[in-house]
Amino acid sequence: MKFVIILILAINTIFSGANNNSNTATIDEVHTHEAPHGGVLIELGDHFGLMELLHDPNKGSLQAWFLDGCAENYVRLVKQKIKLVIHGRFLNKSVKQTVSFELLPKANPLTGETNRSTSQYQLIHEQLKGVSRLKGMILNVKYKSHDFKNLTFDTKLVD
Ligand SMILES: [Zn+2]
Repeated sequence: MKFVIILILAINTIFSGANNNSNTATIDEVHTHEAPHGGVLIELGDHFGLMELLHDPNKGSLQAWFLDGCAENYVRLVKQKIKLVIHGRFLNKSVKQTVSFELLPKANPLTGETNRSTSQYQLIHEQLKGVSRLKGMILNVKYKSHDFKNLTFDTKLVD
């Protein structure tokens, strides 16, 4: 009789242990990041920073916002030109080669951001008008004094 009771206790311990493990695993998997403007997010390091890219074919614009590692706060960059290339076949007047562009700092009176210190960058060009998707590469961006190079992007949203 004594042996049976010990066995039951042992089985209970094993089962409750297994339950605890699966609960922790579920909580870890839920963590996701949401782009504040509905664009695509590009990772800058591992949970170090994020860049959101949003293409508007009507305006021919490509907007970029810089955020912290979990997309919770905006991060202002020191003034810079962000060089990028876009595959020519995605442009309005399609070409075979990649084409170079630049994202420039954008001031925002609402947030007090200026051309010298802002989290928002922008490119407006005829070649970005009337096309549904842009694929290319950010060549260099300085974020919190780290240099990030050759970041591929695709503005097509996967849902
Ligand atoms: Zn996160």
